[in-house]
Amino acid sequence: MRPEPVLPATGLPTVVIAGRPNVGKSTLFNRLVGRRQAIVADTPGVTRDRKEGEAILRGRLVRLIDTAGLEEAAPDTLFGRMRASSEMAVLEADVVLFCIDARSGITPADEHFAAWLRKQNRSVMLVANKAEGKSGAAAAMEAFSLGLGTPIAVSAEHGEGIADLMSEIADALPPPTDAEKQTETVRPSRRKLKKPVEKQDDASTLSFATLTGPDESPEDAVPEEFADEAVFIEDETALPGRLRIAFVGRPNAGKSTLLNRVLGEERMITGPEPGLTRDSVAVMVSDEHGEVQVVDTAGLRRKARIDEKLEKMSTSATIEALKLAEVVVLVVDATLGLHEQDLQIARLIEREGRGCVLALNKWDAVADRVATRKAIYDRLEISLTQMRGLEVVAFSAKTGAGVQKLLPAVRRTAEIWNSRVPTGELNRWFDAALDRHAPPLVSGRRLKLRYITQVKSRPPTFVVFGTRAEMLPEEYRRYLVNGLRESFGLTGVPVRLQLRGTK
Ligand code: GDP
Ligand code: GDP
Repeated sequence: MRPEPVLPATGLPTVVIAGRPNVGKSTLFNRLVGRRQAIVADTPGVTRDRKEGEAILRGRLVRLIDTAGLEEAAPDTLFGRMRASSEMAVLEADVVLFCIDARSGITPADEHFAAWLRKQNRSVMLVANKAEGKSGAAAAMEAFSLGLGTPIAVSAEHGEGIADLMSEIADALPPPTDAEKQTETVRPSRRKLKKPVEKQDDASTLSFATLTGPDESPEDAVPEEFADEAVFIEDETALPGRLRIAFVGRPNAGKSTLLNRVLGEERMITGPEPGLTRDSVAVMVSDEHGEVQVVDTAGLRRKARIDEKLEKMSTSATIEALKLAEVVVLVVDATLGLHEQDLQIARLIEREGRGCVLALNKWDAVADRVATRKAIYDRLEISLTQMRGLEVVAFSAKTGAGVQKLLPAVRRTAEIWNSRVPTGELNRWFDAALDRHAPPLVSGRRLKLRYITQVKSRPPTFVVFGTRAEMLPEEYRRYLVNGLRESFGLTGVPVRLQLRGTK
């Protein structure tokens, strides 16, 4: 009797890792999804219980299944267990990675399983693991005898040959389905879209239409004279789908505690995705409103602990994390108030153009909450005007109290970070702002500001056009930025304003 299918349909191409116990399937799985040992080790039972993850192979999201650990539940001989467990998954795979141990050589169980696999009419890749070092490749060649093609020598543990393997898997995958194409993991090249309100029946303007909303009015048309420059540019680094965030803050603020808290019982998926580097991983967290990826630079932080230049390393971990994130949660130890270093990190977040949510952690240990909150708000008002209005969430990562407020605040901030103000509305505001407070004289002549448009989101970026606009004093520029922020609710995100002179 055939076991029930174990793999619910997801529309993603499926890669299954099979092989006898102990050849290194789990290690390979971890390597391919990029899951960190440190995180795995923190969660007992993870390696055995979680068999499914996602990997990105040449820009394509694939589902990866590790059959290790399924053995225990199956019939009672080694081959029987191996086969029964793997059978379910193998029959639903697009590509099977059949793993053998190059160091111990081919065993009868490998041969049996290979013979069975050959009959299944699946795309099988023979992976000779534990083939590190000089002798590795030679040992791997023995596996030729299995009749499953040329063995691919890798060392899952040492990371050798993994890039080549990933690329070969990508080659072996079936062509993307239509559904898959619509959720591409990496966007195609940057699109420059001129005169956005013209007919949007062309496919290349579709994504723009969804960005601006269907109800954009004709007054949003960019006047001819600015049309070449007033172009809304989509951010090519934008990864559609999941929001990516990071927890940053000084050592001991409670970042790890918070990460564990929001992870809770959730499944972790991490991967060598575009943008992630060797020392960072992305961990999936979710609440009732959906999923968010948290970038974790634990690798860098760990290095910091063994490095003498701790300050320097933890700074680079912070910078790394916030470069990878869209919205950054600045975690502070509320029992210590808002420290100058916290403000420095906030300025770094602003400089990098990220959205920011301020997390007041250890709220359980704060004696006078009213006074603490007031002191922090006052400090923000005076010392962090460039992030005015940012969301502040107080909670205890340790007890969990209040933590559920965090993700909604993060989402609201992400929405603002991504938002676009319609041009018509923007210019109505602009005219009123100029009336209220005329641009100053510069060397005896009044500057003529004529037009404003948003050229980018992520973060919101505006351009003001006008005669000698580039000479506008900083003070007036700040007046405009503050006005934009207040009038359009651009809080908790940097607001960029560029000035462009016209003849
Ligand atoms: P599974 O039972 O097939 O999932 O195998 P595991 O991933 O649990 O690995 C079994 C053992 O092989 C572990 O002790 C691993 O550390 C070790 N191992 C995995 N990959 C390699 C490798 O590339 N080289 C060496 N030398 N050992 C490895
Ligand atoms: P990290 O260095 O920012 O990752 O900080 P950790 O998560 O390692 O936490 C540092 C210390 O603060 C640990 O002793 C935690 O137990 C403690 N801690 C973290 N969150 C809270 C909290 O919400 N309340 C209290 N009272 N202690 C906390």
